[in-house]
Formats: sequence, structure tokens, C-alpha cells
Amino acid sequence: MDQFRTDLVRELGEGAVTDAPERLDAYVTDTYWLGLHAQAEGEPLGRPELVVRPDHEAGVVSALRVAAEHRVPVVPWGGGSGTQGGAVPVRGGLVVDLTGLDRILEIDDCSYTVTCEAGLNGRVLERKLNERGLMLPHYPASSEWATVGGYVAARGSGVLSTRYGKIEDLVLSLRVVLAGGELIETVEVPRHAVGPELTQLFVGSEGTLGVITRVTLRIVPLPATRRFATVRFPTIGSGVDAIRRSLALGHRPSVVRMYDDEATRLALSPVVGEELDGVCAVLCFEGETGAVAAEAASTLALAREAGGRELDPVLAETWWQRRYDFYYPPHQPVLPSIWGTIDVVATYGKIEAVYDGLRAAVKEPYAGVDLELRMHFSHWYSWGTMIYARFVVPDGGGGPNAAALHDRIWADGLDAAFAAGGVMNDHHGVGLKLAPYMERQHGAALGAMRRIKAALDPDGIMNPGKLGF
Ligand SMILES: Cc1cc2nc3c(=O)[nH]c(=O)nc-3n(C[C@H](O)[C@H](O)[C@H](O)COP(=O)(O)OP(=O)(O)OC[C@H]3O[C@@H](n4cnc5c(N)ncnc54)[C@H](O)[C@@H]3O)c2cc1C
Repeated sequence: MDQFRTDLVRELGEGAVTDAPERLDAYVTDTYWLGLHAQAEGEPLGRPELVVRPDHEAGVVSALRVAAEHRVPVVPWGGGSGTQGGAVPVRGGLVVDLTGLDRILEIDDCSYTVTCEAGLNGRVLERKLNERGLMLPHYPASSEWATVGGYVAARGSGVLSTRYGKIEDLVLSLRVVLAGGELIETVEVPRHAVGPELTQLFVGSEGTLGVITRVTLRIVPLPATRRFATVRFPTIGSGVDAIRRSLALGHRPSVVRMYDDEATRLALSPVVGEELDGVCAVLCFEGETGAVAAEAASTLALAREAGGRELDPVLAETWWQRRYDFYYPPHQPVLPSIWGTIDVVATYGKIEAVYDGLRAAVKEPYAGVDLELRMHFSHWYSWGTMIYARFVVPDGGGGPNAAALHDRIWADGLDAAFAAGGVMNDHHGVGLKLAPYMERQHGAALGAMRRIKAALDPDGIMNPGKLGF
């Protein structure tokens, strides 16, 4: 490590390289519950030996070249907001903090694209675009902390995804530094038939295939109108059916967030400031005024046909204004509570069975530890939807085996979802958390992924221990 440090300093300068213990401590975990728990117990899941924070792409190239020469593990670090342990340096080595690469390089308001460096903070980018009447329609709840590179690397999703798509639908091209320091750039536009589209290989690769240094994304004009609606449905099934039929007609509401009874009472009600119960959905339609009116009227007619009753639209508007409140205390749990989000997806034909299976597997068996299970449906497609099943054990189970309890809840929830015909969705990525389940999801295809990984990273130094690689 001494020689590695010397070589890094020669390439990047003393100021860009640190091994000061208090600085290294800032990189022991992202927001993964097990990582935070282990840190609080004084036994972090990982710790880097060195951190570099380059302020230009050439610095990333140099860092990866020197790391390859010394066969030192490399862990890219964006905002550290990940929930899966993806940025935890479980094998030590070098953390490459990307936040020094934070420039917007081009906003093209003719083609509606933005090109920026990967370490740019999501909220900063949004502000700059909004000043020009534009937006990146990717609104994850973590945009205050997350970086654009982290959005792409973890294959994220934001609240407007039903209309605009998820990050994989917004990314056009990337620049990536591969293990060993080779810099590649994918084709400027993603629609061509000249071979496979390489950009998507790196979307969701979580630093295991290379370090993303530059991203070009699709952007849109700020909508002329946003119209809100709140609907209470008699059952989960009736709500799913109304939205399914709306999407089949070609409507694309920007927000469809449907809460089950427990989530309505424990999550939605305190944030909107009104005591609600039952299955409640907040909806938003946006875009050109006439189109918005037509889309909202048609969708709400389908909701009424399904037995839905319209509540005050101000509730949905309040939800929009306070949508980040969910992620701060007192709404966001803190240690010693245990929490996690089992995020699964299925076709419309199976989604109710997945919901019932999750509730049966995660709620009733854990009544003894007062487990809360708040489920909502928030990213909708023409063929299906996903369930965001947020569990909280408020006092951490009251015993010394909190980590085992956490793992058991996850295993029970995922087993039930798979058994009912769902798969893991997790728009937070895979990281450490879901690595043990990769084979179950991908089967033999995981072997093909491992061979791609081996070809791009023969020494296995890129974010080792993640993604089941
Ligand atoms: C309160 C809260 C709410 C959240 N809400 C959402 C949400 O609504 N939608 C959503 O999608 N996610 C959400 N997340 C999860 C997380 O914020 C996202 O996954 C985010 O995209 C991570 O970005 P980051 O810059 O913080 O990445 P990090 O946490 O730093 O890293 C995530 C992974 O990507 C890798 N990585 C980071 N940057 C690069 C790069 N430039 N090149 C290669 N690999 C890289 C890391 O090694 C790691 O494996 C939430 C998290 C929290 C804490």
C-alpha cells in the first residue's frame, strides 16, 4: 500500500489522496441498514485504505491505472446514498469519490439533452435545468444526496417514472473508465442498429465494470400544468385494475402512488396531515393543459367505474409538496429500529398474489416484534407494476440478534414474492444486500454476466463482492 500511495500521489497530487483516519471513516458505509448497524456496533462492514477525489476525468483514468498495476480493489463513491451496501468497500482498497467531477458540460435545449460529469449532485442539476425551463424527469427521493453517476450505476427510478420512464430510459450515452484505465465512450445516441447497445451494459453495473465519468441524459421542458387527484379504492385489486386500464388506453399519469391500508395510515396520513385509511392513491397528470384535462378525466372515470371515490385533490398536491418529508425524521426510522424495503415487480396477472404473499410472509409471522409493513405501488407499466414493501421493526426486535432478524425478514419476503410469480425490482440496485439472490433471479444468465465481468475486469478489482460477482 505504501508504494501504491506513492504512485497515486505522483499521478494525482498530494491534495487529491487521503488516508487520514477520520476521512476514511466517512466511507465505511452507505445507508444500507446492515452497514449502519455494523458501524454503530463498532465493526463496519468495510473500510478503505485510501480515498482519492479527482476533479477531472484524467484523474480517474490515472487512479484506475495505478490501482490495476498494484491489483488494489477500487470502489466508486457518488453521494453514498445507496441503500444496498453497493459502495461499502468490503475488501478495503481505494475509494474513488466522484463528487469532484461536478460540471454541467452542455445543455442542448434544441435536442433536449444534458451532458454532465458523473459526480454532479442531482438537486444541483435539477435547479440549473429548472432555471432554463427544463427538467430531468428523474426525481428519486434521494436527489439531495445522490449523484448523476449514482443514478445510472444503481439503475434508479424517480416518482415521475410512469410518464417519463426510469433512468435507463433517460440515459443516452456514457463515458466510462474501465479497469486498468482505458476510457471508452458509447455512441452519442442510443437508437442505432450497429451492434449491441453498450450503454445499457453499464446501467445498473454498480461500479463492477468501470467508473462512469460522464453522462448524457434526455431532458424535457417543465410541464405547463400539473393536475392532482386523490382516490380511495375499495380494494387493492380495484385500484390496480383502474390504473391498468388507463395505461392500456395510452394515458401516462406522471405519479401513481397507491398505498395499502397500513401505508395510508402510517405513511401517507402523517405527511399530508389528514387521518386517512383504506387504499388511497395520489395521482398527478402533467404536460400540455388540454391533454392533461383529457387524460385526468378519462383515468378518473375508470377509477369511479372500479368503485373508487375521489377525495380532496389538495391531499395529492400536499403529498407532492412534502414528498421528501417521508425520508426525514420523524417519518424515517433511525437505529436501533430495523428497516428495509422489499421492492418487487410482477405482471398485472400476478401482482395481487405477490401482494398477498408478501403480507402473509412478512406481517403475521412477525407480529411478536410489532413489525409495521407499509406497501405502496408506485412505478406502473403497460404490463405490470411494482410493490414497495417497507418494513420497520420500531425497537429493533428488542434483542441482540437484530442483524439476523433483518436478514430473516428479507429472506421470507423475497421467498414469498418469488413463489407468487414476482421478481426483485429493486430500483435501489443490488449491492451486498441482494447479491445472494442474483442466481435465483437470473439463473444461468448470471454465468454469462460473470464472464462479461471477467473479460472487462480480469483481476476482479472493480467493486468486488457486489452484484453476486
Ligand atoms: C432516503 C433515500 C431515498 C431514496 N430514494 C430513492 C428513489 O426514490 N429512487 C432511487 O432510484 N433510489 C433511491 N434511493 C437509493 C439511492 O439514493 C440511489 O440508488 C442513488 O441513485 C444512489 O446515488 P449515489 O450517488 O448516492 O450513489 P452511491 O450510493 O455513492 O453508489 C451507489 C452504487 O453505484 C456505484 N457508483 C456510484 N457512482 C458511480 C460512478 N460514477 N461510476 C460507477 N459506479 C458508481 C457505487 O459503487 C455503488 O455501487 C434512496 C436512498 C435514500 C437514502
